[in-house]
Amino acid sequence: MISQFILPTNVQLRADSIHSEPGILYIDTSVCQTCSICPVCNKKSSKIHSRYSRTLLDLPISGHLSKVQLKARKYFCDNPECPRKVFTERFDCEIKPYYRRMIRSNDLLARMALELGGNTGAAISRYAGVPVSPSTILRVVKRLDIQPKKLTSGVIGVDDWAFKKGKTYGTVIVDLAKKEVVDLLPDRESATLSEWLKQHPEIKTVSRDRYGPYALGIKTGAPDASQVADRFHLLMNLGNATKRIFQSKGKELREAFTLYNQPKNKPAKTESAVQNMLQITEDILTTANISIDKLHKFEKVKDLYSKGSSIRQIAKTVKLTRTTVRKYTMMEKLVKRQAHTTTNLDAFIGFLMQEENRVKTYRELHKTTVEMGFNGKYTQFCNKMNELKNTQPALRPKSTGPILVKTWSPTRLSLML
Ligand SMILES: [Zn+2]
Repeated sequence: MISQFILPTNVQLRADSIHSEPGILYIDTSVCQTCSICPVCNKKSSKIHSRYSRTLLDLPISGHLSKVQLKARKYFCDNPECPRKVFTERFDCEIKPYYRRMIRSNDLLARMALELGGNTGAAISRYAGVPVSPSTILRVVKRLDIQPKKLTSGVIGVDDWAFKKGKTYGTVIVDLAKKEVVDLLPDRESATLSEWLKQHPEIKTVSRDRYGPYALGIKTGAPDASQVADRFHLLMNLGNATKRIFQSKGKELREAFTLYNQPKNKPAKTESAVQNMLQITEDILTTANISIDKLHKFEKVKDLYSKGSSIRQIAKTVKLTRTTVRKYTMMEKLVKRQAHTTTNLDAFIGFLMQEENRVKTYRELHKTTVEMGFNGKYTQFCNKMNELKNTQPALRPKSTGPILVKTWSPTRLSLML
């Protein structure tokens, strides 16, 4: 009666007795079947040779480890043509030869292994009542009969991945239409990739980087497939190329930035092209920290407004307030919001315009004005002074040291391009 609750019901076993040690239940079990099938000739035999004992770990019972002590048998094979004379008892399910666990216990470990991996799976297995080591968890996974997906959408990406970075690499194959990993290859040799592609004749397009063996592998494994350089590697290569160019043009860049940093109210005619280019990049920087979502909504508002939609309709479509929509319709381009902090620098303009103060540096002037009651930070002081300087050049302090030209690094320039 108790057998059906503590033993698998899909195999003919009978619990004879139960005894325990601290934390472990031992279930002495007999086999009910009267014959077994020879694993070599598949003939039934009921002629018992001898008996032996097997211990199998089962699912836990009330927090106790459960170990089934099975009195199994060995059989003679009656088939005179069979090379196997004696074989161990075979079962239809739940108990496999050489296994030290019931199949249902093994299935639990396999689920933990797939969800948690080796180390975590082993740690959790102790609490789940089937304690095993990380190595055993990995062995359970390797024994699983997982069939790789055969068909892909026909558009795949190929790239390398590191077993151990800098030492051993494999190849990852991704289905670009389904956006999922299809297979992992043990190395990044052309022959391995070629062999995989020959087993997948549905492949029409392969995206890859510039690694030579991949190009060769695709050419031999899928000669009719189109090879495409992927966007990431194209941009990376373009960035590296432009960076090298900028690194070799340090002198010219310095001259360009020198021209750009000259006062804006005295631009030289020959420098207008340089000024225009740098102004464009400055515009990009001005809008650089505006979110993509905000820019998208701004463009959507402008588009709908130009097509004649009402403010109310646009607000409902774009999910903005009518005030914001109205503001966007009046703006030519979206710019980042300016800080509203104000200072009392206007009260000191008369002092700053005095003849003796024009030769002083911003740092000296800021220190003096703070002592006189200026309530702003040094950065705010500089920004305000620069604005005044553009409208009243006489305010500019006298330069006392070498001119420091503000430039961009080759990396930053290549990123902007
Ligand atoms: Zn046989």
